[in-house]
Amino acid sequence: MPTDPLYRIDHQGAPRYALHRSQGWYLLDGDPFGVHAVGAALGTDAPQLLAPVLPSKIVAVGLNYRDHAAEMNKPLPAEPLIFLKPSTAVIGPGAAIVIPSGAGRVDYEAEVGVVIGKTARNVAAADAHEYVLGLTCVNDVSDRDLQRRDIQYTRAKGFDTFAPVGPCVAACDIDRAIAVGSRVNGETRQQSSTSELIFPIRHLIAFVTRVMTLLPGDIISTGTPPGVGPLAPGDEVVIAVEGVGELVNHVTASGAPST
Ligand code: MG
Repeated sequence: MPTDPLYRIDHQGAPRYALHRSQGWYLLDGDPFGVHAVGAALGTDAPQLLAPVLPSKIVAVGLNYRDHAAEMNKPLPAEPLIFLKPSTAVIGPGAAIVIPSGAGRVDYEAEVGVVIGKTARNVAAADAHEYVLGLTCVNDVSDRDLQRRDIQYTRAKGFDTFAPVGPCVAACDIDRAIAVGSRVNGETRQQSSTSELIFPIRHLIAFVTRVMTLLPGDIISTGTPPGVGPLAPGDEVVIAVEGVGELVNHVTASGAPST
């Protein structure tokens, strides 16, 4: 893992990995999951950001904050409830969350995303940090009406654009309390900490990798704290994770001209 925050950017019309340092932006040559080196300096102007990784899958966790379970009047789960969000739902910073035509209530969910750095299978909780590239912000956008109607979450959480990720992958200590929150149109909606997690990050990596192999770039999205709520076309939604930064997206309706 590069020690500087890892980004993906549009560089002369092609996606490239990049680093941001106090002196400015730099291309990353090579493989951020393997052999790499700092490449050409790009100056200080902010480039167009893309989703920082291309996961083969996002493994998301339902109901993983004590304070959120209390808000929902639900008992604490005995083991993690996991579901998949498809790679095709991923969008980067600044891209539009598109509310599908005919959708009911579509919610934001601020989550800490754990980006996997190397192939992980049957990982012991004590070794879990060795498989983490870093953390990122995830917005687990959810169609609440479909989530209630369907037995499982594939449709409610799988629409194109329902997985904003970014702005970067930052190296973080997975054992410390990490602040996570959201704002809609500048108003704070969620503010909590991974100290409220029912199943901490180490436990999640062990649990998920007993089921499926995680590949470099895959993301475990660790669940959302209290304060989820609906989005409407025109809204700006910000997900903030301490040590990572802020992921900003706006909301449009299906069929609306893109901006
Ligand atoms: Mg969620």
